[in-house]
Amino acid sequence: MSVVTASRAPSSGAQASSRWHRAASQIKWRVEPFIGGSYRPSKATETFEDIDPATEAALCQVAVGDAADVDEAVRVARQRFVDGCWSELSPAKRAQVLLKFADLIAQHKDELALLDTLEMGKPIQAAVYDAEVYATKLVRTCAGFADKVVGVSGPRVGDTFSFNAYEPRGVVGAITPWNFPVYVAVIKIAPALAAGNTLVLKPSELSPSSALRLAELAIEAGVPEGVFNVVPGLGPTVGGALASHPDVNLISFTGSTTTGRKIMAMAGSSNGKPVLLEMGGKSPQVVFDDVENLDRVADAAVLSVLWNQGQVCSAHTRLVVHENVKDALVERIIDRATKHRPGDPLLDETTFGPLASPTQRDRVKRYIDQGLKDGANPVLLGEIQENGGCYVSPYVFDRVDERMSIWQEEIFGPVLCAHTFRTDEEAIALANGTEYGLVATAWTRDMGRGKRLAHRLKAGYVLIRTSGEEAPESGYPVSSEPQKASGFGSERGLRGIESYSTLKAVVMSGS
Ligand code: ADP
Repeated sequence: MSVVTASRAPSSGAQASSRWHRAASQIKWRVEPFIGGSYRPSKATETFEDIDPATEAALCQVAVGDAADVDEAVRVARQRFVDGCWSELSPAKRAQVLLKFADLIAQHKDELALLDTLEMGKPIQAAVYDAEVYATKLVRTCAGFADKVVGVSGPRVGDTFSFNAYEPRGVVGAITPWNFPVYVAVIKIAPALAAGNTLVLKPSELSPSSALRLAELAIEAGVPEGVFNVVPGLGPTVGGALASHPDVNLISFTGSTTTGRKIMAMAGSSNGKPVLLEMGGKSPQVVFDDVENLDRVADAAVLSVLWNQGQVCSAHTRLVVHENVKDALVERIIDRATKHRPGDPLLDETTFGPLASPTQRDRVKRYIDQGLKDGANPVLLGEIQENGGCYVSPYVFDRVDERMSIWQEEIFGPVLCAHTFRTDEEAIALANGTEYGLVATAWTRDMGRGKRLAHRLKAGYVLIRTSGEEAPESGYPVSSEPQKASGFGSERGLRGIESYSTLKAVVMSGS
């Protein structure tokens, strides 16, 4: 197969102006700890630059953060937990407030989206969708489940009764990444609040602003001041202080496996707090030769690997494809991927923006260079813009060996690797052959095979697909739990609210 060269990245000087550019120029950046309902300067004096990855220009200076900021936020969150202003509300009342919160997120979707686009580069309409659809739907789902968390009661034995009671855990610490700043924040805020906890959130240093705005909106919705606090800053300073804080009762983290493991260690060596970890992924897209509509498979494969410029932990970056259909499928994938031209994320028509930061661009470049050095065959050669914008257009590698780092490790960029198989056993071994276990998809019309795969694919979320359409909202309230190095614990759906609660058994005896 011949090598195709992808379209060039946009030249940074030639950006058109849009209403979003005008709105961006009017933002008054304020990235400071939001504690007890108001902004307070960080105790840290050292700062770093919050950068727009579309231009690599600085947006504002942010304090690196300090353990004292975290101490103060946890102190306020504890006080509010103990005074019962939120934890003692009935679940139905908390649900009402959360429904209002969802409405406010929808009303302010443009503002939230603009902050995310400027700080981490996702195309503006995708950012609007994250806020308006994903975030609000999740908040409403959690509101709906808030008063439906029920336990069991045991059989009465004589005068003894036993039953379960779910209680909030107390002060929750949440640490979030930059790839879906609003949505992943909400994945933690909504179940934590629904269960009656108070919260200290540390957003990624690359994209702190939308979480701060969410905290303001939560208060407008009726969440009492100090129940939901935000401390921006760097990972090791603020995140580290939160994970090792002796008065935090649960840490919920989404991010890289390397950092997740550090957080587990800090949680263990401080007060032994439980952790919920959603970490890396290297998800397989397994395609058997009985699929009848390769165009649809190609659409889905490209969408999965290029969504958010490939910066999604569930991205299906490994194409495990039957040798009979490999060439036909890869051709279709290349055809579609070349149409993903990197563009200015502040234009409504852009569907593919820059990567989130110069660091991320360098990381993706290192993996691509390593793949080329290791002998993987680049059937679509993208392009990497070295300065003035973190643009990387899609890459597709064929003939990838299982031992190569581009097959094994999470790249978090627009890079797809293909490997063929002949038998079902080979397909399963390839699909399961990394340390990760987040998501796996298999395409086949043979439902017997589909059921075997559903069982044998080692991932928390398995999709078995014929060539038919998948309903866009299917599976939404169904919780899952990552496997292997992808983490553990559930966050979405009913199980999510249970994770943010503690399960107590009460035994009452005597007359
Ligand atoms: P990435 O490398 O893609 O930014 P990380 O896992 O490093 O992913 O970041 C996810 C979140 O974890 C961010 O909010 C980041 O600041 C935080 N973080 C990074 N390092 C640490 C650390 N040592 N302790 C606590 N939090 C951290």
